[in-house]
Amino acid sequence: MTSASQSVVPNSVTGDVTVWVQVLVDSPGAQGLYTYSVPDNCVVRSGDILTVPFGTQLVGGIALQLCDVLPNDLDPSQIKPIDAVMRSAFFPPVYWALLERVATYYYTPLMQVVRAALPPRLLAKSQRRVRLLSADLPDAAQLAELLSPMGLKLLQILQNSKTGDYAWQFLQRQKIKGLAKTVRELTKVGLVETFFEPPQGIRPKLQQAVTMLQSSPAQLTDRQSEVFELLRRRGGEMWLTELLHVSHASSAVVKALANKGCVTIAPQEVLRSEQYEVAGDQAKLLTLDQQAALATITGLSGNAEVLLHGVTGSGKTEVYLQAIAPLLAQGQSALVLVPEIGLTPQLTDRFRARFGDRVCVYHSALSDGERYDTWRKMLMGQPQVVIGTRSAVFAPLPNLGLIVLDEEHDSSFKQDQPAPCYHARMVAQWRSELENCPLILGSATPALESWQHIRTAPVPQRHYLSLPERVGGRAMPPVKVVDMRQELIGGNRSMFSRRLQSAIRELQATGKQGILFIHRRGYSTHVSCRSCGFVMECPHCDVSLSHHQTHPDAMSILRCHYCGYTQAQPSRCPSCDSTYLKHFGSGTQKVIQELKRLFPELRMLRFDSDTTRTKGAHRALLNQFAKGEADLLIGTQMLTKGIDLPQVTLVGIVSADGVLHLQDFRASERAFQTLLQVAGRAGRGDEPGQVILQTYTPEHPVVEAVVRQNYAEFVTAELGLRELLDYPPYGRLILLRLSSPEAEAVEKGAEKVASVLAADPAAQYEILGPAPAAITRVARRYRWQIMLKFPLDVALQIPSIERLRSVSGSLVSLSIDVDPMTIL
Ligand code: ADP
Ligand code: ZN
Ligand code: ZN
Repeated sequence: MTSASQSVVPNSVTGDVTVWVQVLVDSPGAQGLYTYSVPDNCVVRSGDILTVPFGTQLVGGIALQLCDVLPNDLDPSQIKPIDAVMRSAFFPPVYWALLERVATYYYTPLMQVVRAALPPRLLAKSQRRVRLLSADLPDAAQLAELLSPMGLKLLQILQNSKTGDYAWQFLQRQKIKGLAKTVRELTKVGLVETFFEPPQGIRPKLQQAVTMLQSSPAQLTDRQSEVFELLRRRGGEMWLTELLHVSHASSAVVKALANKGCVTIAPQEVLRSEQYEVAGDQAKLLTLDQQAALATITGLSGNAEVLLHGVTGSGKTEVYLQAIAPLLAQGQSALVLVPEIGLTPQLTDRFRARFGDRVCVYHSALSDGERYDTWRKMLMGQPQVVIGTRSAVFAPLPNLGLIVLDEEHDSSFKQDQPAPCYHARMVAQWRSELENCPLILGSATPALESWQHIRTAPVPQRHYLSLPERVGGRAMPPVKVVDMRQELIGGNRSMFSRRLQSAIRELQATGKQGILFIHRRGYSTHVSCRSCGFVMECPHCDVSLSHHQTHPDAMSILRCHYCGYTQAQPSRCPSCDSTYLKHFGSGTQKVIQELKRLFPELRMLRFDSDTTRTKGAHRALLNQFAKGEADLLIGTQMLTKGIDLPQVTLVGIVSADGVLHLQDFRASERAFQTLLQVAGRAGRGDEPGQVILQTYTPEHPVVEAVVRQNYAEFVTAELGLRELLDYPPYGRLILLRLSSPEAEAVEKGAEKVASVLAADPAAQYEILGPAPAAITRVARRYRWQIMLKFPLDVALQIPSIERLRSVSGSLVSLSIDVDPMTIL
């Protein structure tokens, strides 16, 4: 560290070159890399986790680079030594390269990327401890010869500890001169080690285990040999509690066995994992399409990318399972990324049924302790399958053989905040490159980016694989569109068309089940005419305007949040002069009220973010529904994901319009994906299914594409539009988000930042905005944004963030979103 320092390090006694190490320091005050020296008796490699003095504290850090020449402007006498190596070779070099790539591409400080990738508080200032490595010490005379007086004193203190270890802070109070040096002395001769106590609450969970030591013990009482025999029959090792329980013996009996040297009783780590019970499962006989896909995948060597495009119910998951099985057998591991794990308990179950406890689940709903354990299990390096959400793309699996991104089109793979705003698909692509393993992107409705990426530039390492049909020759459910304008004309003011009402009635009569889809509450703010379907759009930007109202009595205004265009909401429809010009939004609750009124007998289950907040609630609700405890499952976006229930024959989409007119250039793509995915929940069993889609704009191209269920056709048309406007995948975007508690400050700041961006001589982007964000005030902060549009063939280069931050003003915070997914 370059700051004034009291501890001047003597150069190595042997006259060797001093080694310096550049350290990424985990402290809020740290910026960039800091240089430390490496003490003589200490070996540091890049990727080690260290403790280093920083200011007046000892903090965690990561060794990045070793050098034997000191960076030129530094004075060797000013440099402090590192304190200790806490964990050797924690980060393999490729892992490190991955994090660096994320940091660079997403304009995020490396330390922030490290924090996103590591389990919470792994590097945090956790307690440092010292422990004795062995209870059998050399005799006193030998020790006296081997150790310094301080070394002996430390050893004595540690021997007094019940657990054989003490906290560093405790040892500091024991009047040992040069504690760090003394600990190093003992470490060198293998008597002690230092370690980080995992942050509070996430220590490894320990439990007493009984282990058999010798097979034919002599002189046991009857009771003792009974217990001993039991232990042997159970494989020679049991938890103490379990042994006592099964043998009905007292703990004195087991202690006696230990005293006779027949068994040991010692704490062992229990890995916390979700409790689960699933029956075993065998590989299925594949369909011809599945076989062809699997053959291509298993034939891949090294880095390759596969787009597995299979309609809903075509058996993609079975292909993943059979692709992973041989890898595990070869000692490799696989990483399976899914959008939201709570929503897909069925997927996890299927993996567990196939691979048992070699499956680890890693997601944000895990407790810190569970997450910490999962990490430890990964680092132990056994072949395993990690199923996880976005951040699991950083799971430190050694020997990675395959990465799968299931439902790769899903926007939850993109982190919106905090930085780094990474997309797991992008990171997975880099990771598969760096680790030289294949990546499978699976979806029934691939993202346009992925489609374009795989299809247009055919290179040998990119493969498009298609599963065009459902397993078992099941038909795709027909999609029937109901024009809600006609319902209004026909005198039906209910939110349910007559057709949907009779389909629900029929469900009850025939004992089948249905799913009712409602777009996410408060998500849609577009304004449309209930008489003619006309949608208010920005005259400049080709996106629908969003409805704003600061308080209930205020005037409604419509705004484009791309360019800032604003107008008052007209009282009549500009197209047909109807007064039914309204903004949309209907919640689950309202729908349920209406259903209760129409169908008092109907058994309903509500499946949305309100009813699924608690851990395990998704699974419980789905189980209830699967058991037939309800006729209708009513829910939001969550319903689109991975529900595979054979008894569902009806899918009702209450209003497609809510998804159709989001204020985003990706609106059509998202709507198409969502509607097709929801539709795909019907008819997965032996009974054929049907989908009823209600809308005020049946002529909308997305609705027409959903009816035809033709992805390729939709994509071709949509890509044409994107190309015209240079939107992704024909251009790249960077979104700068500014926010401030002061409305004026953020507006001024945005203008200043925009002018710096405009004046940059190296600029290769087009600037859109600045404009207020669609939701202009969130958590008392006013938000503005600037969008930068880049052509495909240039680097995503912008002026330095520090520069932009400095002009935006002190009250304004500025964040950068590369390849933004939501522009709200
Ligand atoms: P997807 O992931 O494409 O939606 P799934 O893998 O979930 O499709 O398969 C749909 C259903 O078909 C599942 O219930 C699955 O167990 C079953 N299935 C998949 N492949 C086969 C097969 N080859 N033979 C029989 N059943 C299969
Ligand atoms: Zn109208
Ligand atoms: Zn506009």
